[in-house]
Amino acid sequence: MNPLTAIPSSLDIKKIRDQFPVLHQRVNGKPLIYFDNAATNQKPKQVINALVEYYQGYNANIHRGIHTLAEQATKAYETTRHSMQKFVNAEHVEEIIFTRGVTESINLVASSYGRVFLKENDEVIISGLEHHSNIVPWQMACEEKKAKLKIIPITEAGEINLDVYQNQLSARTKIVSINHASNSLGTINPIKKIIKLAHEVGAVVLIDGAQAAAHLKIDVQAFGCDFYCISSHKMYGPTGAGILYGKKELLEKMPPYMGGGEMIKDVTFEKTTYNDLPYKFEAGTPNIADVVALNEAVNFINELGKDQIAEYENELLAYATKQLSAIPSVKLIGTAKEKVAVQSFIIEGIHHFDMGQMLDTRGIAVRTGHHCTQPLMERLGLEGTVRASFSVYNTKEEIDELIESIKRIINFLK
Ligand code: PMP
Repeated sequence: MNPLTAIPSSLDIKKIRDQFPVLHQRVNGKPLIYFDNAATNQKPKQVINALVEYYQGYNANIHRGIHTLAEQATKAYETTRHSMQKFVNAEHVEEIIFTRGVTESINLVASSYGRVFLKENDEVIISGLEHHSNIVPWQMACEEKKAKLKIIPITEAGEINLDVYQNQLSARTKIVSINHASNSLGTINPIKKIIKLAHEVGAVVLIDGAQAAAHLKIDVQAFGCDFYCISSHKMYGPTGAGILYGKKELLEKMPPYMGGGEMIKDVTFEKTTYNDLPYKFEAGTPNIADVVALNEAVNFINELGKDQIAEYENELLAYATKQLSAIPSVKLIGTAKEKVAVQSFIIEGIHHFDMGQMLDTRGIAVRTGHHCTQPLMERLGLEGTVRASFSVYNTKEEIDELIESIKRIINFLK
């Protein structure tokens, strides 16, 4: 039994919380309760220390240098590539491309793969659940190539309508791009089925794993996806780093996304030959420090175990959902059967911004607004929601505090 949460769990939440310095502060005079984990989660000491150790101990540019620090930095950077290969179970290490995160990863595929393989009248399919990062790059690619963007509709609960999807697929479908889990509603999408159906018509599939990386097991070989995107900052790692996983045979056929140093083998004014994978897609000096520290985020997750993390977060979600739904003026938004620990809601007669601001005065950080999913909000007939998203360091006591605060704010504003 965990003393802090009074629930059966193999995780020692107090010990976990001790590893997160940012959690131990007061905000507006109250102990911080951080429920904005879907936007970015907090960083354990081992990640913060890795950044400090890199800058204090072996800061150097990588790959080209032959001196000791350059070799040390290169080794640390490439160690993370191997860790991320294992983290997503990629077959080859060169299938892991470092990017700034999911947004850049999707843009890379949309412009590089899209430039070569999308033709006039081809179709790209996304879902009604997507983040703007998985909408706009495809709109741009489709506009350039005169291709068509199709949207899989979603149900009232926030689930993808698979029957419609099946009918939308055809020989014209070239790319399907879907999130593994929704940032606004928490819905976990049946990606294996979505991928299988897309492959039957010869389309490639990109999975936006932004909301999955810290919570769900990732096995790109078992999923069969062609591309998988991750942001480090949503999995306890630093901001400004992430990966694109891509199948080797596809990455090899794709042109570079950016030109510059590192992505070349040989340059003359007449002709440039490009570097091998993965460096072909990593032009310029990369975000070495953050990639190095990402390795510690992977270690943090592996030490706790994804299954244990998911089990505990699911308990938090169920606990919060039950209590929120018991408040008469609260309406839950996003009630899919399979969810990560995200709960959106609206409150009758209270604007989501007002609720967010009043919760902040009580030290509670939630997100309000459209969560970069404006088309989804429009489909649901909403301007925005209040969103509470949970992480492994959150507790039931914090959820109790959230519920009590919401009730008090409702009474106050009545
Ligand atoms: N997709 C989803 C589902 C997300 O939640 C986010 C971040 N909110 C993104 C894409 C974009 O990720 P990033 O800002 O880290 O590039």
